[in-house]
Amino acid sequence: MRIGVPAETRAGETRVAVTPETVKKLAAKNEVRVQAGAGAASSIPDGDYEAAGAKIVASATEAYDAGIVLKVRSPSPDESGLLKKDSILIGLLEPFNAAQLETLAASGVTGFAMEWLPRISRAQSMDVLSSQANIAGYKAVVLAAAEIGRFFPMLMTAAGTVKAARVLILGVGVAGLQAIATAKRLGAVIEASDVRPPVKEQVESLGAKFLDVPYLTDEEREIAKGSGGYARSMPADWMRRQAELVHQRATQSDVVITTALIPGRPAPRLIKEETVRAMKPGSVIVDLAVEQGGNVEGIERGRIAVKHGVKLIGLENLPASVPFDASALYARNLFNFLSLMLDPKTGEFKLDRTDEVIAGTLACADGAVTKRG
Ligand code: NAD
Repeated sequence: MRIGVPAETRAGETRVAVTPETVKKLAAKNEVRVQAGAGAASSIPDGDYEAAGAKIVASATEAYDAGIVLKVRSPSPDESGLLKKDSILIGLLEPFNAAQLETLAASGVTGFAMEWLPRISRAQSMDVLSSQANIAGYKAVVLAAAEIGRFFPMLMTAAGTVKAARVLILGVGVAGLQAIATAKRLGAVIEASDVRPPVKEQVESLGAKFLDVPYLTDEEREIAKGSGGYARSMPADWMRRQAELVHQRATQSDVVITTALIPGRPAPRLIKEETVRAMKPGSVIVDLAVEQGGNVEGIERGRIAVKHGVKLIGLENLPASVPFDASALYARNLFNFLSLMLDPKTGEFKLDRTDEVIAGTLACADGAVTKRG
């Protein structure tokens, strides 16, 4: 089978779907074509791919001319036209974008959207959302530390004592947990909140304080359990009580990092403008949910804005700002996923629709969308 790796063309996308490590494994049984310069923004020279066994091709047309195409982001409509009918496409295909998915389906490709990978133990090594969220959580803290005009750690100096920064983290999934761990390493004092009950123990085990918003009804308790490892939209009354607690704690914080998401829905609004207005001047908010509409009122997608004396960081795609490691983890996730469908002896591709991981991730096949978000 021929595997093609086109260069990413989405603005700001620096990651690449294969690394020399994964090319070496794939090239043992397949022809691997990598478009010239595909790894440049991840500091991977063409020569390293060549040494691992890839053939470097000059154009996107040649890279898309393959039985299997590995991508980070979904191809643009023009690029979709380069896909061969009946080829396999694996990447972050944005399955909640119905129009884009229709275009892909119409190209006749069999598309796997890594966003839909089932969250079961067997699939952990393929979990692109987790590997990239981990990086985003780390980078959010590093960005906040760079943008705030104070230290994170407590310092005792000859010139007096500097207090530790207070960091509030809202939404403690993969990104939030890494944000807690990173802020802890820098010496901050951390509080965190989430809707799902198991999070409390995880937060406390990392040395942070959990902000509890008790469930008052069976409905709240039931919805808070989420589904498939993900959160569901909480009832309005719970959100109101959470907002009161968040307002109170945010006004005592120097840094707020928000990561709350609900699959296929706009991000829940956790910080209102009145909370931003009441925060200390010079505070920093990083909103990792900005691409899904943001957890913070007034956040501006793609930029850092100052409102009411508070820096609102709405930079997008933070994993792409750590491209070397983001690509290394992403490429391993994709390799592990693809390996499910490649015969280890012959390298032959087999689509087993009875496999939960394969079926759950399949977004389009035979000219039609197989599942809608
Ligand atoms: P996510 O990115 O979808 O959401 C981030 C966090 O926001 C979640 O913890 C969610 O509960 C929280 N959230 C949503 N609405 C909120 C609100 N109104 N207020 C506060 N918080 C809110 O989540 P994620 O990082 O992808 O991970 C979710 C869970 O799945 C985690 O516990 C993770 O460990 C688990 N997980 C399991 C597997 C596996 O078993 N294979 C793989 C990956 C993740």
